[in-house]
Amino acid sequence: MTESNKKKRTTRQIKIGKLTIGGDSPIAVQSMTATVTQDLKATGRQIEILEKAGADVIRIAVDSKEDVVALKKLREHTDAVLSVDLQENYLLAPDVAPLVDKIRYNPGHLWHLQKDKPIREKVQFIVSAAKENNCAIRIGVNCGSVDPDYKSRFPDDSVQSMVESAVDHCVMLDEMGFTDYCVSLKDSDSNKVIDANKRFAERRPDVPLHLGVTEAGLPPEGIIKTRIALEQLVSAGIGDTIRVSLTLPDDDKGEEIKVGREILSDIAEGRFRSVPKNFLEGLNIIACPSCSRVENGKFVELAQDVRKITEYANQYKITIAVMGCRVNGPGETDDADLGLWCGPTYVNLKKGEASLGAFPYDEILKQLKNELDKIIEDRFGSVPSQVS
Ligand code: SF4
Repeated sequence: MTESNKKKRTTRQIKIGKLTIGGDSPIAVQSMTATVTQDLKATGRQIEILEKAGADVIRIAVDSKEDVVALKKLREHTDAVLSVDLQENYLLAPDVAPLVDKIRYNPGHLWHLQKDKPIREKVQFIVSAAKENNCAIRIGVNCGSVDPDYKSRFPDDSVQSMVESAVDHCVMLDEMGFTDYCVSLKDSDSNKVIDANKRFAERRPDVPLHLGVTEAGLPPEGIIKTRIALEQLVSAGIGDTIRVSLTLPDDDKGEEIKVGREILSDIAEGRFRSVPKNFLEGLNIIACPSCSRVENGKFVELAQDVRKITEYANQYKITIAVMGCRVNGPGETDDADLGLWCGPTYVNLKKGEASLGAFPYDEILKQLKNELDKIIEDRFGSVPSQVS
């Protein structure tokens, strides 16, 4: 497939600071800082690494007034196109909007604060701040935090609950006369990302889309999962910006940009790398890319160790999710056979939605292996012999 016979994108163009996305603009590649925002040295260094790697947009999480103060200082030292992730604190929108080029809000997080206030008023609050400061907006829907109202309306179709939530927020922004917005619909399952973005693009072919597989995990699996989704979508004319979310040490974060560009250039030149035949038919380890919320610096090492100690179970169709914090960890491990989410001094272990307890970092791997052995025995009969 060459650039000329790839399906044409139909989205409108929007401005994110000096960057234009949508329509026939090049697909932008972005990433997010994974450091504590208030650690100015570490976050400043991450911004530098991502800028050097050629990031078109750099996203920073802001959750408190102290984070806003840090963001202001970081802004003074960079001309990069910055986006801010409002996490659960939409009230910070007017404080951050003068400092950045785009605000990302998650429709599923708007109900946390001021529970009695209608969602529309909260959206209007963000839109007004964005309008006054020439900021773009991303409506960022995420599988682990879909608005409970939409979840209950589509209990058997998680993809549709994401799509409907995004479409309704687009209507709200349209009615508020705000057009500089894009949408993202992320899931940790590549097929659901494909499905959600295709369904959304059918409903709103005019709205630019930011693509990504959330919690794709460690390379190389994280790259393959993202590649599966991007190959399908970009070649179908869907996608205006992308992020490859990988679990990487802080200093290697630039890899997300490098890999993103490689995938796009392969797609443009028709180099579709075939996915390993049995990929995702065996053991599937999902890990979040880590961000400023990560609760213990050992997280990346933990994810790497989980993969190492579970290698003996590679042939079994079992999913293990490893998440860095209490915000998204509990919800985003629900669909995994075994889930781990980090606290500051302990790691929580789950089997499906049920909690199996919290264990110190030096005990969790042993507990995980015991539970994995039990699942293999229950479902497949016997545990394979392991070389110790
Ligand atoms: S699970 Fe927590 S630490 Fe990991 S990327 Fe999501 S918010 Fe950040």
